[in-house]
Amino acid sequence: MNASHFKYLISACLCGRNCRYNAGSSKIESLCELYRSGQAVLVCPECLGGLKIPRAPAEILGCRVVDFSGGDVSAAFRLGAERVLQIAVKYGVELAILKERSPSCGSRMIYDGSFSGRKIPGQGITAALLRKNGITVVSEEDIAASPDILLK
Ligand code: SF4
Repeated sequence: MNASHFKYLISACLCGRNCRYNAGSSKIESLCELYRSGQAVLVCPECLGGLKIPRAPAEILGCRVVDFSGGDVSAAFRLGAERVLQIAVKYGVELAILKERSPSCGSRMIYDGSFSGRKIPGQGITAALLRKNGITVVSEEDIAASPDILLK
């Protein structure tokens, strides 16, 4: 595999990196294998935006991203998304596989901003920016439901 090209860009927490807000991961073995085989670059948009591990949980509320204590973390989320886009373009990524329901990575559903566990249709800041720039975004749940999404 040419290191200047990666077929996939994957949320780092899906490949076992403990970068979630609670310092945990959401590891999925089949996605780890894409990384181990040299086909994927891993990113954590929130870390790339300068947020710490662990950090307060955050949700999208209107056009802002707020954390559990009400702090506005929109700038960090936008910076992280921009950095992920730069990485995707640099490596010619063909498909982004991002963690569902995250305020950065969610691609179909997100939490509604009330921190009550309610979900609504929507997408995270990074997923939206990648799509806006022509990059196909799916989630780990899409892959589980339709493994043939993975590029041949
Ligand atoms: S920002 Fe994305 S990659 Fe980082 S922990 Fe959250 S879901 Fe995982």
